[in-house]
Amino acid sequence: MRLKQGDKGELVSKLQRAIGLDPVGVYGPKTVAGVQVFQHCKGLPNTGVADEATLKAAGILGGAVKEESKSTLTELPEKLSANFSMKEFVASSTAKRKGIDNNPGLEHAEAALELFDNIVQPIRDHFGTSIFLSSGYRSAALNKAIGGSQTSQHSKGEAVDIDMDGRKGPENEDVFHYIRKNLPFDQLIWEFGDSKRPDWVHVSYKKGGPQRGQILAAKRNSAGKTYYEPWKA
Ligand SMILES: [Zn+2]
Repeated sequence: MRLKQGDKGELVSKLQRAIGLDPVGVYGPKTVAGVQVFQHCKGLPNTGVADEATLKAAGILGGAVKEESKSTLTELPEKLSANFSMKEFVASSTAKRKGIDNNPGLEHAEAALELFDNIVQPIRDHFGTSIFLSSGYRSAALNKAIGGSQTSQHSKGEAVDIDMDGRKGPENEDVFHYIRKNLPFDQLIWEFGDSKRPDWVHVSYKKGGPQRGQILAAKRNSAGKTYYEPWKA
């Protein structure tokens, strides 16, 4: 197990306390620097990433803490960022209609926190207006019901679809270009529509990275089957 920049939770607080930092529970640049100093003192490589050797040296690993848990969260957060709730991230009319449980696991909620921190909230902050999420988290059961891809980042809590059609604020293409030029996305998709306007925008952020920065356009062939190609301006 290892902790690194972007991680959050109880273990991060524990590490911070152990190396003499304020236990704020978020692994930011200050923690990276603190870990580097700590590693230097212990004769470990100064990576700023708290790997197993570092965690052992800090007394976090080795008896006191149990095996790696999949998540450092202990419960589902109600809010994912200043302006977004878990409720709107898991909302699905299909799930509601079919009585499908669409609650994420803790590790997926953790991924969502990173997605909202790095992508969704910055979009809202930039445009200063409500941003409509037409699809967020999809449990395996929901994905199956809508015929979505089982490997979709939506089922890991790493992706959202944004659709501003008929709403106040930026158009879908404005959102697309803002993300493309400014944010650290993993995958950005211009979903159907035409060359001027996508029907909606899909964007993902990979928990823990690295982010691929991949930009695709979704299209349909003459048989109506979806395919993807690199997006071109
Ligand atoms: Zn999507």
